[in-house]
Amino acid sequence: MSVVHRVEVHKFGGTSVGDADRIAAVARIVRDLSPGCGLVIVASAMAGVTDQLIAAAVAATRGALWEGTRLLDAVLARHLAALQGADIDDAAAVGEEIRGILDEVADLVRAVAHLRELTPRTRDDIIAAGEKLSVRLVTSALRRAGAAAVSIDADTFLETDDRFGEANALMGISDRTIAAALRPRLERGEIVVVTGFCGRAPDGATTTLGRGGSDLTATLIAAALRADEVTIWTDVDGVFTADPRVVPEARVIRQLNFREAAEMSFYGAKVLHQRTMIPVASLGIPVRTRNSFAPDAPGTMIDGRITPGSHPVKAVTAVRDQCLVSVEGKGMAGVPGVAARLFKAIAEARISVTMISQSSSEASICLAVPGERAIDAEQTLKREFRADITRGDVDEIIARRGVSLIAAVGLGMAQTPGVAARVFNALARRGLNVLAVAQGSSELNLTLAVDHDETADAIRALHAEFGLDRIDTGEDSSRGFDLILLGCGKIGRALAALLEERRAHVASRFGLDARIVAVADRTGFVLRPSGIPAPELATILESKSGGAKLAARSGAVACDDPVAMVRQVLAYRLSRPVLVDVTDGEDTAEALLDALRLGCDVVSANKKPFAGSLERFRGLIDGAREEERLLKVEATVGAGLPVVDTLEMLLATGDRLTRAEGCLSGTLGFVMTRLDEGAPFSSAVAEAVKLGYTEPDPVVDLSGADVGRKAVILGRLSGLALTDDAIEVVGLVDPALAGRPHDALIDALRAYDKPIAQRIEKARREGRALRYVARVEAGRITVGPVEVPADSPLGMLRGTDNMIVFTSERYAARPLVVSGPGAGVDVTAMGVLGDILRIAGERRPK
Ligand code: ADP
Ligand code: ASP
Ligand code: MG
Repeated sequence: MSVVHRVEVHKFGGTSVGDADRIAAVARIVRDLSPGCGLVIVASAMAGVTDQLIAAAVAATRGALWEGTRLLDAVLARHLAALQGADIDDAAAVGEEIRGILDEVADLVRAVAHLRELTPRTRDDIIAAGEKLSVRLVTSALRRAGAAAVSIDADTFLETDDRFGEANALMGISDRTIAAALRPRLERGEIVVVTGFCGRAPDGATTTLGRGGSDLTATLIAAALRADEVTIWTDVDGVFTADPRVVPEARVIRQLNFREAAEMSFYGAKVLHQRTMIPVASLGIPVRTRNSFAPDAPGTMIDGRITPGSHPVKAVTAVRDQCLVSVEGKGMAGVPGVAARLFKAIAEARISVTMISQSSSEASICLAVPGERAIDAEQTLKREFRADITRGDVDEIIARRGVSLIAAVGLGMAQTPGVAARVFNALARRGLNVLAVAQGSSELNLTLAVDHDETADAIRALHAEFGLDRIDTGEDSSRGFDLILLGCGKIGRALAALLEERRAHVASRFGLDARIVAVADRTGFVLRPSGIPAPELATILESKSGGAKLAARSGAVACDDPVAMVRQVLAYRLSRPVLVDVTDGEDTAEALLDALRLGCDVVSANKKPFAGSLERFRGLIDGAREEERLLKVEATVGAGLPVVDTLEMLLATGDRLTRAEGCLSGTLGFVMTRLDEGAPFSSAVAEAVKLGYTEPDPVVDLSGADVGRKAVILGRLSGLALTDDAIEVVGLVDPALAGRPHDALIDALRAYDKPIAQRIEKARREGRALRYVARVEAGRITVGPVEVPADSPLGMLRGTDNMIVFTSERYAARPLVVSGPGAGVDVTAMGVLGDILRIAGERRPK
């Protein structure tokens, strides 16, 4: 005998043992579990078998014995079929056991047919057989895989009361009997396979714990054995933010507190039986739900941690088929004890109450009970309040059937004001009517009653309202890194190519699967939530370079409003979404802000949202901070050069910037160099245009508007110049020249050739050079042509290179210089990629 150091309980639901293949998969999962630990396997009946057994029993009550027999034959055939693959001896022995169990069931069904009566006791005896059958199959498969597995039926040791159909474990007693039955086997090194769902009444009869009760069997056993962990293996990846059949975009919740899980299961999350958490919560034994169809998915961890994060609501659930009973009367107000009498009467009738709500006037109390107890509840209350009705203190007792209770669950609700208002608004906007509402004193859940027909709409409305379809709840399981390209001009296209090249790097370095899920231009967007396949992306970008509009593509969505586009894209369940603004639009700021609010990180190469009004700039920076999102703008200044990064580093380390000064335009740098070399101004500009260095309208460069924007961004990010009027720009040319055709512009520029040549010549004689300089100092930004010493760093700058010189307390005598290629499509795309990779670093899976 050995001492078992670690005990794990693994429960496999009906679909996980649904046929021979699934049972073989179970054997593989069990084989791969922690070696050397004590294993208890709890199995449910094969999917659908419990229902078939119930149907057989019910048919018998109608005297339709033949129908009952047919159903039992089908159950037998299914189990024998699942034995295929077993070796001959085992198949024969297990087959015999299976027949034996079903023979007993057939006897019971015959007795029911004879008496035309199905007592809860007999019903339990019949339906517990489903688990007894499946456990035989699982044990056989485990043995085949070489494990020392034994079957044991829970109705031989799990002590319960005699509430047949809904039995409760006798906690103090069952703990001991469970341990006594299982521990010696574990110590012998055996894997124990136990029937879920059933137990033993004090008189020895078989009981069941309520539909779905195998989950509870697992936690009862875990508590009794003081197990280290329970795993509930089912057919979905874990506990979702809502029933995935109702809300296709529901997400797996990585972590739940015991209380959150308990609340969710109480309010209809079928993935866990209502009482699953009770045995383990106080002992702190963690429960994990995992997918037996995808054993590598991490699933949901349920434990004692409280991780509300920034999301007050973690999940939305629903219990259907409820009845609202209300007791109304003006005479009730102020009369003590009405509520107490009401609940006592209901409790004595053994009706469980699913919701209580009292109007603030105290003139009505309303409670919800399961639909099948509606008549009982109504009659019980009419009896209890007969005298009050006669006296006129109570006007009436009304029962309304066909009601669903919707619950918004999350521990974060307690600290977050306004959740109830959001719930009501979300429902009201869709025209959904709330019949009653209740908030538990724990503020862990908000429950409301709606008409049955509105259930799905109400769940979806709340799921969307709280962003559960796109916001990570707890930790995130997926490795996706979803990029949305706003704009697919030259930079967007270069970026797409770079990303494709760097995918493997991102995967190996950050463990993330970077994929472009959407691209948009001014006319519309293409969205593929699981990533636009490379060939499709290539044809999109190619047709864009030919001037096509996205909206014209088949499968694209026409949309000319960036806000609407961002909302439509982010309505999908994306992972770590990043919106990348590679447009030069004036109108994207709102969209960027919205993206931040919708749980998306943002990268911008577009200067305009950050260089426009100060209020807009602040809105974006504050929005990112409030939403705990990342906002990166490196490519707005100096393209790929680490200008913003250096600035942030200086500030983060507590240094104080006194001045930032430099040449921030590749175009003007090129023009200045050509002037130094003796070229006339107008022809230097014509060359720059030809080489593709300028903005589409070169006047945007020559007037200083573009450099001005970069300087404003630096002023704001450094905190040095924070007013809208802090900037003074002296252009090389008159901004009124904007908008002219190329030749006309070059013609007009000839007027500047001579004065500029003279200025260059004069500077040269004085040992200076003319540079177009942006200077940011406390409270002041100046942008314009300046004569600098020819042997200074700025004086020696050549061509399209940018240079920025930071002077700070630490870098006072010898300033910090960042210099290098700072213009052009490729280096700008590099800058954007750098920001994307910084985000990948921060968002990588832990
Ligand atoms: P098992 O037979 O493994 O016990 P169940 O059918 O009892 O499986 O529970 C799993 C099912 O619960 C899932 O297939 C899913 O459709 C449903 N379900 C309902 N609500 C949720 C939720 N919030 N999260 C996950 N699954 C849910
Ligand atoms: N087989 C039972 C049921 O269908 C118990 C369970 O699945 O947990 O309800
Ligand atoms: Mg279940």
